[in-house]
Amino acid sequence: MSDSTGLRPDTVVVTGGRPEPVHDAPVSPAVVLTSTYRGAGEMTDTDRGYGRMSNPTWEDFEGVLGRLEHADLPALAVASGLAAVGTVMSLVPVGGRVVMPTHAYQGSQVLVDDAQRAGHFTVTRVDVTDTQAVLEAADGADLVWLESPTNPMLEVADLPEILAATRASGVLTAVDNTFATPLLQRPLTLGADIVVHSVTKYLAGHSDVVLGAVLTSDPDLWARLKHHRTINGAIPGTFETWLALRGMRTLSLRVERSGRSALDLAARLAEHPAVTRVRYPGLTSDPGHVRAAAQMDGGYGAIISVELATDADGAQRVVEALEVWTPATSLGGVESLVERRRRHHDEPATVPESLLRLSVGIENVEDLWADLDRALATVRLGS
Ligand SMILES: *Cc1c(COP(=O)(O)O)cnc(C)c1O
Repeated sequence: MSDSTGLRPDTVVVTGGRPEPVHDAPVSPAVVLTSTYRGAGEMTDTDRGYGRMSNPTWEDFEGVLGRLEHADLPALAVASGLAAVGTVMSLVPVGGRVVMPTHAYQGSQVLVDDAQRAGHFTVTRVDVTDTQAVLEAADGADLVWLESPTNPMLEVADLPEILAATRASGVLTAVDNTFATPLLQRPLTLGADIVVHSVTKYLAGHSDVVLGAVLTSDPDLWARLKHHRTINGAIPGTFETWLALRGMRTLSLRVERSGRSALDLAARLAEHPAVTRVRYPGLTSDPGHVRAAAQMDGGYGAIISVELATDADGAQRVVEALEVWTPATSLGGVESLVERRRRHHDEPATVPESLLRLSVGIENVEDLWADLDRALATVRLGS
């Protein structure tokens, strides 16, 4: 699907955020390092002003991401994905109520639990696959937070249905689109008010940047979110935004390759005797497949969760036996990562002890499979 310029996303990631095309201009954007900007008259909203308010290098990145998400306004880059989550949560009035999925990025869960404990707002948790339950909880809420597919259970929310209903009733919605990337899913076009990204993951794509972004097409919301960034000071690093745009040049190639490998590996894992369940919406047998096929475009992402026929220690041994896969938290980089999620003490008990989350990278899929197959042989079946 092309954006308002008529260009397709795999072109936008390459051509966007470049210097003006004049003779002798550099082809690649500069890293503009400055803490302030020249100016003497009355300062207005459109002035660059000061380094906490704006930066040309941020804007190169922000413009491209805005176009990929089909937002009417540029993205707002912030210091991290969680800074993006916190910026959105700042819109919730004191005494308000937030609807959260039972399973969602763990940092987002801790953030809203902290806010609830401090008395800022209350939190209602819902099974995001149960559309009726989401809509009942949304009634009278100040913010509905959605993630799809969810971390780490890969559940799929019915985004078109939920977002049409919340749009009609005027309830503010935000979608964490980190797992899908704007190449596969564009929640603003489905009716979401706000989209957030952990740019750290697929967008930057090389496990060398921590960065976040918030997007909206609503000028009033955009101004409030930007004000929050300026005044709370969780601004992006200039070099990080430059690296993120550098990484995004290959986003479509990475998403295509890793998604294809993920589908292939998910199908092979589903046949493996040491695997009791594969969670991946690209498999036709997955409970989220029909929804994902309807609302995602061109793939299902590259995160797979597997449950193993063993306990926590057995799953841990599989992780430690891997050589091509790197044992680490995080996801979305060129290198394949694996993690037993329950090693985090705050992961909900509804996540099985043996669940491994796989972030499929861009290595040769046969090498990834051979490594997995060898490590899975450490699971003693029938014991
Ligand atoms: C990693 C992640 C975040 C948090 O982003 P950071 O850049 O680590 O602060 C938020 N949501 C999702 C889905 C993530 O994977």
